[in-house]
Amino acid sequence: MEKPVTSEAIHAWQMVAPGELRCVSLPPPTLAAGEVLVEIHGCGVCHTDLSYFHDGVPTRQAPPLTLGHEIVGVVVAAAESDSPLPGREVIVPAVLPCHACELCRAGRENRCLQQRMPGNSLGIYGGFASHIPVPGRDLCVIPAAARGEIPLAHLAVVADAVTTPYQAARRAALASGDRVIVIGAGGGVGGYMVQLAKTLGAATVVGIDVDSQRLALVQAYGLDHAIAAGGLDVTQLKAAFRSYCQTQQLPANVGWKIFECSGSRTGQALALALLGFVGKLVVVGYGTDELRYNISRLMAFDAEIIGSWGCAPRHYPQVLQLCLDGRIALEPFVEVQPMSAIREVFEAARHGELRKRVILTPDF
Ligand SMILES: [Zn+2]
Ligand SMILES: [Zn+2]
Repeated sequence: MEKPVTSEAIHAWQMVAPGELRCVSLPPPTLAAGEVLVEIHGCGVCHTDLSYFHDGVPTRQAPPLTLGHEIVGVVVAAAESDSPLPGREVIVPAVLPCHACELCRAGRENRCLQQRMPGNSLGIYGGFASHIPVPGRDLCVIPAAARGEIPLAHLAVVADAVTTPYQAARRAALASGDRVIVIGAGGGVGGYMVQLAKTLGAATVVGIDVDSQRLALVQAYGLDHAIAAGGLDVTQLKAAFRSYCQTQQLPANVGWKIFECSGSRTGQALALALLGFVGKLVVVGYGTDELRYNISRLMAFDAEIIGSWGCAPRHYPQVLQLCLDGRIALEPFVEVQPMSAIREVFEAARHGELRKRVILTPDF
């Protein structure tokens, strides 16, 4: 029972092939049962989009497709006439589970193998567009009037950059009094990892990043100590961390929860080097380097290395609430640009010239 719901075409910035974008009009979408049409108000530019675009990392749906998976907008149509969603402001989770498979039933739906991802495996549709058809079930509704002064577009980062660290924190059972290290603390995900760790009660948060400017920005939002990694190797960084611990009378090799958000070779090597007794290392960032590690150290340390993928949609309302009540600050870490500047923004990102996470707003 499918029916076309709009007479208007979708305008989209489509990746024709890696490195190549074109502005296209797609026919009005047909909504399947349970689907809604979201008019996009903002879509964040994520490292993952850039690796598809610049590095040719394959998308699940082969190009042409529209990238972008950090989406906020307003529901403008629904397949079912009795849907309560039209007119509501919503965040579209970056992963949309099937809710039927073994993983979904086991509460591991963030890693559902049938999951659909806007801008990767949701057909041709992604966030760098005017509209997107998505399943309505998992949308995170922004409570009416709760947004206050926060621009709707800013909440795009809740779709990925804020929720991904939240899931990682849950994987590490992050709790009050914890000692935390965030590697890549100046990055889009790492900065929110710092804020979340502090908000969830971490006693000490140490942030490490190659970009000292971005690290400085995070310092006012939960970092107890920043280590600028530029030009230092793993041994030097470990020494810097140890000397901080000494001044604070903290044990450098016991009980730290390490969140590796950089995905870089040095970041990952450092994370492994810092992992100590009863420690946990959560791998949040993605990289392609292979590292050597003596896994027997995990036995000797009684330690854990954990991977974390995306975030289950059922956690989104809690994360959104942290942003709405100001416990997680968004504004200092985001920058809104018109979507027509997408080529320039992607290019600036390639050269490491972006200081904040860019959110593109449709201007077709
Ligand atoms: Zn992402
Ligand atoms: Zn599933």
